[in-house]
Formats: sequence, C-alpha cells, structure tokens
Amino acid sequence: MDNFSLDIRTLNFTIILFSCIYSIGLMFYQYSQRKILGLTCFAISLLFIGAGPMLLSFRNGVSDWVTVVASNTIILLGFLLTLYGVSVFRAYSLKVANWLTVALPIASGLTYYFTFHVPSIRMRIIVISIYLSTVTLASAVAMMKGENNDHRLPMIGMATSLCGFSIFMAARVIWSHFDVELTSFMTAGLIHQLTFLFSICLVVSMSFCMLWLINARLLTSIKELSAQDALTGLLNRRAMEGVIPEIVEKARLKQEHLSIIMTDIDNFKHINDACGHLSGDETIVKVAKLMTRYLPPSAQVIRFGGDEFMIVLPCHTATQAAAHAEKLRELVRTEPCFENSPKPVTMSFGVAQKDKTESLHDVISRSDHALYHSKKQGRDKVTVLSTEEEFGRPFYQQSA
Ligand code: GH3
Ligand code: MG
Repeated sequence: MDNFSLDIRTLNFTIILFSCIYSIGLMFYQYSQRKILGLTCFAISLLFIGAGPMLLSFRNGVSDWVTVVASNTIILLGFLLTLYGVSVFRAYSLKVANWLTVALPIASGLTYYFTFHVPSIRMRIIVISIYLSTVTLASAVAMMKGENNDHRLPMIGMATSLCGFSIFMAARVIWSHFDVELTSFMTAGLIHQLTFLFSICLVVSMSFCMLWLINARLLTSIKELSAQDALTGLLNRRAMEGVIPEIVEKARLKQEHLSIIMTDIDNFKHINDACGHLSGDETIVKVAKLMTRYLPPSAQVIRFGGDEFMIVLPCHTATQAAAHAEKLRELVRTEPCFENSPKPVTMSFGVAQKDKTESLHDVISRSDHALYHSKKQGRDKVTVLSTEEEFGRPFYQQSA
C-alpha cells in the first residue's frame, strides 16, 4: 500500500478538465433547449469545482491568498452551488442551502486563519472536509426528498455518489485529526490523493445522472403530450392503450364495479355549419369543461374523437353511472353559455357496466350500442345497455 501513489497534479488536471467539459456542455444544453430550473446553477457549480483546483495548481509561484484561500473558497462555493442547483431542480427547500451559505465565510475565514496566523495544512484539510461532507450530504437529501416527480434510478445514482463522497470526507476529517502535520499538500498521503480521485468520480457521476434525469423528464412530457388532446386537454384515444387498461385491471383485482359512458354531441355538424368550425371547437371545449367540472375526481374523461367522449367511472354500477349521465344531459341543456347558440346544444349518452368476464373492448362496444340507441330514439337521451337479454334481444333501458 505504501508503494501505491497517485500523482496529485495529474488528478488535479483531470478534475479541471472534466468539470469544465460538463459545465460548458450543460450550459449550452440549457441555452439551446427548454429551460430547466436549477440546471444553470448546477452547471456553474461544476465550473467552480474545476476552477478551484486550477488555482491550486499555481502553488509556489503565486501568493497563498490565491492558491490556498481563494482556491479552497471557490471549491466550497462550487459544492454549495451544487446544493442550490439540486434543490431547485428537485423542488426542495433552500433552508439548508441558506444555512450553509452563512457557514461558507466561516470556513473560508478559518482557511485564512490556518494559512497566515497559525499555519496548518492538517487543520485546513479538517475545516474544508467538514464543510464538504455536510454540503454533499445535504445535496443527497435534497436529491431524494425533492418534490418533483423524477425518475428514481438516476436520483438514487446521484444521491449515492454524493453520500459516498460525504462519508469519505467525514473519514478524511477523522484521519487528518490523528495524522501528523503535513509539510506540502502536493506530496500528501494516500487519503488526500484519493480525495482528488473521488472528486473526479463525483463530477462525472453527478453530470451523468443529471443528464439522465433531464432525459427522463423529456420522455415523460412526450408521453403525456402524446396522450393528451390538444383542443380540450383531456386524455385522447391513445391513452386507451395505457391509462384505461390500468384502471380496468385495478377494478378487476379489487373486484370493484366499473362503468363506461359513451357520449356524443347531437347534430354537431349543424353547429359547425351554422356557426363555423371555431365555434364548433368552442362548444367541444365547453362540453369537456362541463364534464370534468361535474364528474367525480376518479372519473377519466377521454375525447374519443370528433364530438364523442368516453367516461370511465370506477366504483360505479350502471345505475349510478346513468344518474351521472342524466345530470350531465340536463347540465348541457341548461348551460347558460350555450343559450345564445343558434342551434340548441344537447348530448346523447350510452351506459354499460363491465361484467366480470367481459373485455374492455366489449364493454366499450356495449356502451357505444347504447349511445346509438339514444340517437335512434331521437337524441338528448340516456340509454343503459345491460348484458341481459329480453325476448332474445339486447335489453335497452331508457333513463330519459
Ligand atoms: P349526431 O347527432 O348523429 O352525432 O350528428 P352529428 O352531426 O353530431 O354527427 P357526427 O357526430 O358524426 O359529426 C361529427 C362532426 O364533428 C363531424 C366533423 O366535421 C366534426 N368535427 C370533428 N372533430 C372536430 C373538431 O375538432 N372541431 C370541430 N369544430 N368539428 C369537428
Ligand atoms: Mg355528434
């Protein structure tokens, strides 16, 4: 072990290189893409983490003010900015970061004290390591406890790296406490050489995890957008492949009732023809708002296409769902914002309750048949289609 030695100057140069490349790369990314809260601060923090060791490398040629006090303060500031960046990115409270901002001048002052008044490399290492251990631990907590809904794997990755670094710094404090006084930092022992190595690992893993987190956010927003109807903001038909089967499966496992309502605006073509397509669009939006406002939060409303909507109601029997449909039918008829419409706005409804053995496709098809029945019966109606048969024919039940 005694023969094993890492060259601090080379390690120092590697930190500078990695931090600068990642920092500049992330800044360009932030500049050219959709702005991500906390990313600029995180990118600047990497630049500081790289700039500190750069000043450190001017040792022996330049004043201790620059190579010791300023360089260490810049490194501490860099890690503090990482905490701010991570906290903002993950929507975590800035309280701890603010406290550590107050502690920064104290740590910097002690570095000055142990450089010019009571010179001691060992004490400087202890002060700096305590600060770094605290700030990286706080960053790990911010990463895990933040409120934003992020991908867990890169979150755990970054928190683990930060935590590992924090533990190493705490070990360095204990080591240095029992160690003899150092004569030169550049020829310091293995634990101090490892500090540089771990700093490189931390910079690389933090940057990689940050890019992974951003990428995961983009993927989530693409998924959400692709399942959202642009006009109404409701789920669109594509959501049928993801969200709805999940709800149906949950109801099946819990053995709960589930009903589906299919609804369609009556004579919508006339509204389009008489008032124009934009007014038609407005009518669709108003109907969508009315439904989401009235229905219980558990209900999923989907724009099935054109002027047709599908409502999935977990924990509802056909009778309960029909009562909601009836209320909606009444609300549309009497909605004040439709009063000035040259054509009366009404809607027809078809209701079906999912049978235990029935597939999702079949229950949708049954509620669609019920809707068709409402249309045939003169529109502005609610029809329930049960799985029973009457006189060898499907049993339609008109509730309005
Ligand atoms: P019915 O009572 O039988 O439903 O008669 P309808 O006239 O409403 O017939 P249908 O539901 O088949 O007509 C749907 C029309 O909705 C056809 C299409 O021109 C129109 N449409 C589809 N999507 C949009 C849209 O996003 N905006 C507008 N303004 N119109 C749309
Ligand atoms: Mg229609």
